[in-house]
Amino acid sequence: MRALVYQGPGKISLETIEDPSPTDDEVLLRVDAAGVCGTDRHIVAGELGVPPGTVPGHEIAGTIIGMGSDVEGWKSGDRVACFGQVTCGTCSPCVSGASNRCRQPAVLGMARQGGFAEQVALPASCLIRLPDDVSSPVGAIASDAIATPLHALMTVGQLRPGETVVVIGAGGLGLHAIQLARLAGAACVVAVDPFEPARKAALIAGADAVLDPSLEDDAVRALRRLARGASLALECVGTAETVELGMSALSPGGRLVVVGVGSARPSLPPLARFIGTELSVCGSFGSTPAEIETVLNLIERRRLDVSHSVQREVPLGEAASIFSEPGGPARTVILPQSQESHR
Ligand SMILES: [Zn+2]
Ligand SMILES: [Zn+2]
Repeated sequence: MRALVYQGPGKISLETIEDPSPTDDEVLLRVDAAGVCGTDRHIVAGELGVPPGTVPGHEIAGTIIGMGSDVEGWKSGDRVACFGQVTCGTCSPCVSGASNRCRQPAVLGMARQGGFAEQVALPASCLIRLPDDVSSPVGAIASDAIATPLHALMTVGQLRPGETVVVIGAGGLGLHAIQLARLAGAACVVAVDPFEPARKAALIAGADAVLDPSLEDDAVRALRRLARGASLALECVGTAETVELGMSALSPGGRLVVVGVGSARPSLPPLARFIGTELSVCGSFGSTPAEIETVLNLIERRRLDVSHSVQREVPLGEAASIFSEPGGPARTVILPQSQESHR
């Protein structure tokens, strides 16, 4: 089969590799769509220590074309979305329903072969049924670009109706966070992004106000003015500056949820303010299969508008060049079954 193979820092190429063969508890999927996440860009840049020879891609939608002898409840032809990591199912986070925090996870496209390929073999425990009305590109990105902000806002952030929410970074995660916050009853949503197309997209997604922090002498003061009394902030960028901006936007008792991954070391506000105003800072990682199901249900029932969620669809044969271009506000999706355009 054809696959995009990571070859070392800065290098990814289209290769012909052996077809995967499913073990007893695995299914073989024809990959219909695979979302390109910021994490994939970090992998290709060589920042995450992924071994060369790995096929990236953890946002996958596909159709079952084969299965091992122990798989029950699925049949050939079933359309599925996938939970992005293979979990052990027996550690205490897994048993308590927080499998996103599994102690022995194997992330697809990092610790095992991912979805930037014509086929992928995955344990049946990763599968989530894809409703007929949900397209494969949307099903692919739902598992991360939409379920991750759902987990961050609702499960970790404990968003309540009537709150003011600040979303920092209006990319794939942030744009869906804006919609989800409104759906959950936020009274006001303010989005922060220095990139103009992202701010436009944030307004389309339903932000009540947007802020370009690079245009402000004092971004903290400008944000406090816009988001009077923000009680919940969601940080989707992963730099020290944006985490610190998120904390300073909060009113007393506020919570900052950090989703952006990186090696930054942000600092806390002076302890007198941090303690005295009872601020909280929480990390949030991925989502659970149940949350992906929730997201697919919301999409199927048209409670979420996903018409702007996929910016671009690219055949597998043309996809290697994506990684040398900057990412836009919405997701690019690779379509491994689509023919090249022969431009
Ligand atoms: Zn991702
Ligand atoms: Zn586990």
